[in-house]
Amino acid sequence: MSKPEWNLVLLTTKSFSKVRKAYVSAITIFSVIIFSVAGLYGLGRLVWFTTSLGIAKFGVYQARRDNEGLLLKIQFLKKFILKEEQRIRSLVDFEDRVRLQYGLEPISNDVRMAGIGGKPSSQDMIIATLLDPVLVHAESVKENVESLLRRAQLQDSTLTHMSKKVSSIQNYWNQRPSIWPTKGRITSPFGYRFHPIEGQNMFHEGLDIANVHQTPIHATADGVVRFAGNRDFYGKAIIVSHEQAEMETVYAHLDRILIKNGQHVKRGEVIALMGSTGRSTGPHLHYEVRVNGRHMNPMSFILPEDVIVD
Ligand SMILES: [Zn+2]
Repeated sequence: MSKPEWNLVLLTTKSFSKVRKAYVSAITIFSVIIFSVAGLYGLGRLVWFTTSLGIAKFGVYQARRDNEGLLLKIQFLKKFILKEEQRIRSLVDFEDRVRLQYGLEPISNDVRMAGIGGKPSSQDMIIATLLDPVLVHAESVKENVESLLRRAQLQDSTLTHMSKKVSSIQNYWNQRPSIWPTKGRITSPFGYRFHPIEGQNMFHEGLDIANVHQTPIHATADGVVRFAGNRDFYGKAIIVSHEQAEMETVYAHLDRILIKNGQHVKRGEVIALMGSTGRSTGPHLHYEVRVNGRHMNPMSFILPEDVIVD
């Protein structure tokens, strides 16, 4: 069998007068077809690659923009954290000062820093920064926020505790008798003395201060009136209870009582007028201080005026 012969016939469009015939081998035709297919495939690949590159570039651009946005947010959070940390520090300073002033135990740094973790090693930080700087920033912000929250919670609890203690100390001092109950001269001190009416040595359970009739009598500390009325030798008398200080004060031989039983009184408030009711030889105040029911020398509770803080 002879090889098939491939002929390429070229015709002009103007006339059929000229017909050219050229011989083209099968190898040439196959080569042309193969090269054409390969070319088309290559072109396809090129288009695909260019498109992918474009998409990837756009992705990178988008990611960069997202990252910039995130970094801005992180910067804002960092500033916020810094500001809040400063506020906590000034609260800690304030608390330390108040604790010192009221003789309360200071909070140690160990307690304040409890539960606040250490920072990652610098090597870890370098590796992490290379991997994803935004992630590192975000992680550090997260840690800072968590630490801030723990410190704020601790601060809240220590301040609440301190404020309760301070107010109980203040209550105690407000309820502790500390001023003169009236103006006048001391006619009889606390302790054993010759009793003018009984005519013998007797224990005097209070302090006598004499002045003219109706000299104002003041409550010597904050408290609640437990008794206001007539009571045997005391005549017209008032007993004020100072519960926080576990004390009582007694004001006797009064001319007029200006408060009622059960009423709250403040230190310095005028509660009565001086008189000579009950067993008395002249207008004076009989003033007693009792601690847990025991009679104490009232003089030892009267502070110099410049020491009284109201
Ligand atoms: Zn007396």
